[in-house]
Amino acid sequence: MDTKITLTEKEIPTSWYNIQADLPEPLPPLRHPGTKEPTRLPPPLFARALDEQEFSQERYIDIPEEVQEIYKLWRPTPLYRAYNLEKALDTPAHIYYKYEGVSPAGSHKPNTAVAQAYYAKKEGCKRIATETGAGQWGSAISLACQFFGLECKVYMVKISYQQKPYRRIMMETWGASVVASPSEDTEIGRKLLKEDPGCTGSLGIAISEACEDAFSHDDTLYSLGSVVNHVLLHQTVVGQEAMKQLEKIDVYPDIIIGCIGGGSNFAGVLLPFVKDKIAGKKPNLQIICVEPEACPTVTKGPYTWDFGDVAGMAPIVLMYTLGHSFVPPPVHAGGLRYHGMAPIICHLHKLGFIEARAEYQIPTFQAAVQFARTEGIIPAPEPAHAIKVVIDEALKCKQSGEKKNILLALSGHGHFDLGAYEQYLSGKLEDYEYPEEKVKEALAQLPQVPG
Ligand SMILES: *Cc1c(COP(=O)(O)O)cnc(C)c1O
Repeated sequence: MDTKITLTEKEIPTSWYNIQADLPEPLPPLRHPGTKEPTRLPPPLFARALDEQEFSQERYIDIPEEVQEIYKLWRPTPLYRAYNLEKALDTPAHIYYKYEGVSPAGSHKPNTAVAQAYYAKKEGCKRIATETGAGQWGSAISLACQFFGLECKVYMVKISYQQKPYRRIMMETWGASVVASPSEDTEIGRKLLKEDPGCTGSLGIAISEACEDAFSHDDTLYSLGSVVNHVLLHQTVVGQEAMKQLEKIDVYPDIIIGCIGGGSNFAGVLLPFVKDKIAGKKPNLQIICVEPEACPTVTKGPYTWDFGDVAGMAPIVLMYTLGHSFVPPPVHAGGLRYHGMAPIICHLHKLGFIEARAEYQIPTFQAAVQFARTEGIIPAPEPAHAIKVVIDEALKCKQSGEKKNILLALSGHGHFDLGAYEQYLSGKLEDYEYPEEKVKEALAQLPQVPG
């Protein structure tokens, strides 16, 4: 049996799959932050093509040829069978993982970054402003802007800026300019720094800064690395490839497991499969989203209307949320520190097609190290949360004797997270309890939406 299931360049998908065509109930509308009325994406911020994709009901959307050409630099990505991990766990389960760490930026994020830079350029934009958490989105968009000759300004969450200088250097190498957020470069940044000079930042704050930047520059578009429908759409190249790869060995997964920060990498994998579950073809398919116990949006947050950002400038969306003003503890999985969640993920959860679990970071790193010592790849802390659950499920199979096929979304490598590994290996890593009081405070500030 093959350890690595590969595809040829010709087998890279030529269209993105749009789940909106197959949802049993349509997504709730976005609402304007001021009027609370249904709204499109804020027009000065996003490329028109992305706004169209955001609300499109077409099942398949063509991937532009220029984007396909760039995809070929790292796509198709490999799908592995985790023989060594299975053996170490002594499980009858078959574990497969789809690995996005082979992209130049080391994660799935360039799949959407390249598409977004392409549309920005096509519509005459000169510059992109964006935010980044752990630095993965920032590096992806810096790379993509460089490919299309666009300037790039990145607001990087301060805790990560301090913990991860190499991510910043990577972005600068690809030509971007990077500041720690909250920064002195925007009004909202200056306000927050005045209130709390020690503020370690959050993805929500950085989003507000980048939006303000794009609002105040005519030649600048804003760009998001997760959460919104068009980003999840672009990521479906991953799941479509994984499905083809598994078809080659006659496998359909029983369980699909991935981590969710804003929801994009896992959506990319699960959406082409959940289509079969919605259609009633695979009623027993189990889909498990994993988040950190320190920021348990789907497992503990209410399903309600909230702002996408801290400043209340972004549209209001119906989602699971911990409150837009919630700043999560500084766990190492920086990419999982967002207060809300992709509306598509929330909607599918609400309709009962997917489930969610939360994990602490110490057992997460324990799982990551076991993965590295068996499979070789050092995973990013974000997908390590999913690996923890893969191991739990594989051990359940050992007890029950079931030979389940488990598919793991391995969204990226952890080469820039070795500081976190060092803390784990030297016994210095801490677990953060669910910050119940802080969430309660944040939930008291939800916007009021009539109806
Ligand atoms: C950004 C990131 C995540 C979290 O974001 P999603 O939109 O939920 O995918 C997960 N894994 C990696 C490697 C990332 O870079």
